[in-house]
Amino acid sequence: MKNAEYSDADDAANTIRWDDNQRPVVSDFPIIPFIEGDGIGPDIWKATQSVLDAAVQKAFREKRRISWREILAGEKAQEHYGVKNPLPKETLSAISRYGVAIKGPLTTPVGGGFRSLNVALRQILDLYACVRPVCYLEGVPAPVTHPERVDVVIFRENTEDVYAGLEWPAGSSEAREILTSVNAKSEAVGGTVVSLESAVGIKPMSKANTDRLVTKAIQYALDHHLGSVTLVHKGNIMKYTEGAFRDWGYGVAREEFGDVTLTEADLYEKHGGHQPDDRIVIKDRIADAMFQQLLLRPEEYDVIATPNLNGDYLSDAAAAQVGGLGMAPGANIGDRRALFEATHGTAPKYAGQDKVNPGSLILSGVEMFRFLGWDEAAETVMSALKKTISQGTVTYDLARQMEGATEVRCSEFGAAIVGNL
Ligand code: NAP
Repeated sequence: MKNAEYSDADDAANTIRWDDNQRPVVSDFPIIPFIEGDGIGPDIWKATQSVLDAAVQKAFREKRRISWREILAGEKAQEHYGVKNPLPKETLSAISRYGVAIKGPLTTPVGGGFRSLNVALRQILDLYACVRPVCYLEGVPAPVTHPERVDVVIFRENTEDVYAGLEWPAGSSEAREILTSVNAKSEAVGGTVVSLESAVGIKPMSKANTDRLVTKAIQYALDHHLGSVTLVHKGNIMKYTEGAFRDWGYGVAREEFGDVTLTEADLYEKHGGHQPDDRIVIKDRIADAMFQQLLLRPEEYDVIATPNLNGDYLSDAAAAQVGGLGMAPGANIGDRRALFEATHGTAPKYAGQDKVNPGSLILSGVEMFRFLGWDEAAETVMSALKKTISQGTVTYDLARQMEGATEVRCSEFGAAIVGNL
């Protein structure tokens, strides 16, 4: 069904609503919009939809079903609405209205006025938390000795930091003007003076945006009975941005969650290093050290909350540790809306070949089920996916790293999972 067809008043009963704690209230036949995506998007969406539908049928019989609604973005939207419109307002309003949606990857149109459609979606819809769960699926080839020790959920701030798009090229009048003003302020206190020929970018970070991100991360740890939340920052160098992120994060823990959290210092000084069952430990780590920690002692981290750029690097590195982006789920979550998505791009060289791994989008669907409270469907997919991989039935990306694997097409991988449900 296309955008224009679904503004019927009678779908209200199956539109997701939200309770006072921002949790979704879901009917048995919720309307969920999907964006197929560009490049490999149609292939992986087709395989994903068949797996998700079959899992709901298996878990709930006829009692529940998703009513999928196609919405357009990227190249398909340009074909329908014109080249200048890769992100139509109908698509944005459908995601706002229906609250939960899922998408394949999107090509960033060259010269279309967007830096990236994905960044635009996150900013326009204020999907302020990019949530990336990273854990190991047995049988997936991984580059580290103990990938099974990684089980972490990364909350990356999605709306500010160097992604705000505030930068000017070297030699431009804007860059010179900004640097002239900055140099004057810096010189006045004996600080650094930079060349007026430099490029310049701005890194805004606010208390309000940090507070809501850290609130989501701690709430997630509480809801899922996890032991720690770690604030990852580069506050030793960028004191008023990244350092403030750490301080504001601790402030949220203290003021909003004081009765269920404790700091690492308190853990050792007041509790002799023994974590009380009813307390989440709030830690902080400098970003560069955190990359080492995730490689060397991943079992010490459950939830990570971090600014935008750190989170971008960290979530791809963590995904690589357990076998790569082909199997990494993702979600962009705001207040009263959530957009689940494959974390990789459109891999244009494989478009239309029915070749690539749909695992990232299928696992994003699993996260969507969990978000909706449809845990039975989520677990059904997970066990069938694990079984399929353990049988050695995998797409090319995994087959080339596994001995004795049977390489199958994208659609065949989906069908094998359905067969194992
Ligand atoms: P990419 O599309 O992620 O592809 C890079 C490589 O990753 C592929 O050549 C392939 O590796 C592997 N790969 C990606 N998806 C896979 C899958 N499902 N199964 C197996 N292997 C997979 O990155 P890119 O080439 O840098 O970006 C292409 C376009 O995607 C760009 O327009 C970019 O802007 C866009 N993009 C979109 C999103 C998004 O929508 N969230 C994210 C990132 C990039 P091999 O070559 O080794 O087989």
